[in-house]
Amino acid sequence: MKFYLPRSFFFALMALGEAVEAFTPTSKTFSSRRSSSSLKMMSSEGNFDFDVAIIGCGVGGHGAALHARGQNLKTAVFSGNDVGGTCVNRGCVPSKALLAASGRVREMRDAKHLNDLGITVDGEVNFDRAGIADHAKNLANRVKGNLENSLIGLKVDVIPGRGVLTGKPHEIRDEATGKVYSAKDIILAPGSIPFVPPGITVDEKTVFTSDGALALPFVPEYVAIIGSGYIGLEFSDVYTALGSEVTFIEALPMIMPTFDREIAKLAERLLIRERAIDYRTNVFASEVVPGIPGEKPVLIKMIDAKTKELVETLEVDAAMVATGRVPNTKNMGLEDMGIETQRGFVAVNEKMQVLTKHGEDGQVIPNIYCIGDANGKMMLAHAASAQGISAVENICGREHVVNHDAVPAACFTHPEIAMVGPTEEQCIERAAKEGWTLGKSQGSFRANSKALAEGEGQGIAKVLFNKDTGKVVAVHIIGIHAADLIQECANAVSAGTTVKELSMMVHTHPTLCEVLDEAFKGAVGMASH
Ligand SMILES: Cc1cc2nc3c(=O)[nH]c(=O)nc-3n(C[C@H](O)[C@H](O)[C@H](O)COP(=O)(O)OP(=O)(O)OC[C@H]3O[C@@H](n4cnc5c(N)ncnc54)[C@H](O)[C@@H]3O)c2cc1C
Repeated sequence: MKFYLPRSFFFALMALGEAVEAFTPTSKTFSSRRSSSSLKMMSSEGNFDFDVAIIGCGVGGHGAALHARGQNLKTAVFSGNDVGGTCVNRGCVPSKALLAASGRVREMRDAKHLNDLGITVDGEVNFDRAGIADHAKNLANRVKGNLENSLIGLKVDVIPGRGVLTGKPHEIRDEATGKVYSAKDIILAPGSIPFVPPGITVDEKTVFTSDGALALPFVPEYVAIIGSGYIGLEFSDVYTALGSEVTFIEALPMIMPTFDREIAKLAERLLIRERAIDYRTNVFASEVVPGIPGEKPVLIKMIDAKTKELVETLEVDAAMVATGRVPNTKNMGLEDMGIETQRGFVAVNEKMQVLTKHGEDGQVIPNIYCIGDANGKMMLAHAASAQGISAVENICGREHVVNHDAVPAACFTHPEIAMVGPTEEQCIERAAKEGWTLGKSQGSFRANSKALAEGEGQGIAKVLFNKDTGKVVAVHIIGIHAADLIQECANAVSAGTTVKELSMMVHTHPTLCEVLDEAFKGAVGMASH
C-alpha cells in the first residue's frame, strides 16, 4: 500500500547521504563549516540555538525541515501539535480517502457501466458511513505518523508548541513554555484555515467547513455547498456518490469560476448535469443558520450578488462552506517584526524572503522566509513543499526560484481535472500582451484504447503552446487519471520542452498518456492514429 508523502521527504532522504556532497560544490563548503547538530552553532552573527527554525509543520514546514537537515543544518520545527498540518490531517490526504471509497460506491452502483464491462451486481451495493470516515481518519493518522518518524529519523528538533516571533531578529518564543530560542534563519509556514463569510454560523455538525465535512458525521439527503471551487467540487463528488442531492451556491456569474472555461463546461456536463446536482450563480449565502439532524433544517438566505436583495431561502439537511481559505498568520508576532500583511497574507519575493509589505515599497526583512499557503502564491501542498525546499536553497546561498507556472494542480473528482499553467483565457491575454501567437491542440479520451477498456472514454486534454517557440505554456485535462497525466506536461513546461520534441517522444501503448501524445502530435500537424 502506498501513502502520500511529499516529494521533499524522498528528496531529503536522498540528500542526506553522500548526495549531500554531490548536490553542488557549494553545498559541500557550506555544510563543512557548520557545527555538528548537537552543538550550539557559531556564526559571524553570533551564537544561535539553530541554523534554521521553522514555524508550522504542514507539508511546507516539513519539506523545509527535511531539506534543511539534508544540508546538515541544525533544524527546529515548531509544530503547534499538528504535524502534517492541513494536507495530512484535514485536507489532501483524508479527502482523497473519501473520494476513493465513495468513487468505488458510485462505480459499483452504476449498472450500465458495469454491464458494459460484462459485470452484474446481484443485490444492493451498500456502504458503511462510519467505515468510510474511519478509512479517511486512519489514513491521515498513518501518514502523520510517517511524517513524525521522518522528522525523528533525520534529527529535526520538533518543538510541540506554537512558535511566535518576539520582535527581535532571530528569536522565536515557544508559546507553551515561554522559552525563547534563537535561529540564524526563520521560515514561517503557518498555512491557512477555512474562510467563513460573515452571516454564516458554523457548528461543524450541520453547517461545516471542510474540517468538519471530512469526519463525514452523516450523509445528508440534501446538502448545499457554498462555493464551487475545487474543494466544493470534490465534496459534491463524494456526496452524490453516497446518495446525497447537492445544490451549489456560487457568488460569481459562472460555476467553477477558476477553471479553464472549456474544461469547466465539460466538467459541468460530466460532473454536474449527469448527477443529482443543481446550482445558483450570482448569489451570496448571506445568512446560514445551523439545524438539528433529522429535526430542524439548515436555513440559507441568498441575496443577489449585485443588488443585495433577498432572492431565495433554502432549507437543507446540511451546508458545507467551501468559500476559500485564509492565511493562519494571526497572533504570531508578525507586526512586532514590522511585517504588514494583506488580508493576512505575508508578502515575499521570488526567493521566499519576507518583505515588510506588499507592493513595490516592500523591503526584505533579513533572515525571515515565508512559504506555503501563508504567502498566497499558490495554495497547494506540493507548492508549499517546493517553496520550503527553495527557501532552504536560498538560505544556503544557492539562489533558487520556484517556477509557479510549472506547478501542476488537480481536482480529484471522477473523472479528474488537472492543469498546469494559465487558463486558455489567460493565455490569450498573455499572448496579446507579450506579442506571441497562441497555438492549441487537443487529444481525446474517446479515441484512447486504455480509457475505452476502462469504460471511461469521456474527456479531453488541451495543450496550449507558443507557436513562435513551440514551448508548452499550459495543459488542461479532464478525464480518468488526469491528475497523473498532468505530470508529463508540468515537466515539459518546467524544462521548456517544445511540442515538436514532445511529438517525437514515445508514449507507451496502450496507456492514457496517448491522449497527450495525440495532442502533442496534433500541435505539429502529425496524425497519431
Ligand atoms: C479539503 C482540502 C483538500 C485539499 N486537497 C489538496 C490536494 O488534493 N492537493 C493539494 O496540493 N492541496 C490540497 N489542499 C491544499 C493543501 O492542504 C494546502 O495547500 C497545504 O496544506 C498548505 O501547506 P502549508 O504547509 O502551507 O500549511 P498547512 O498544511 O496549513 O500547515 C501549517 C501548519 O502550521 C501550524 N501553525 C500555524 N501557526 C503556527 C505557529 N504559530 N506555531 C506552530 N505551528 C503553527 C498549523 O497548525 C498547521 O499545522 C487541500 C486543502 C483542503 C482543505
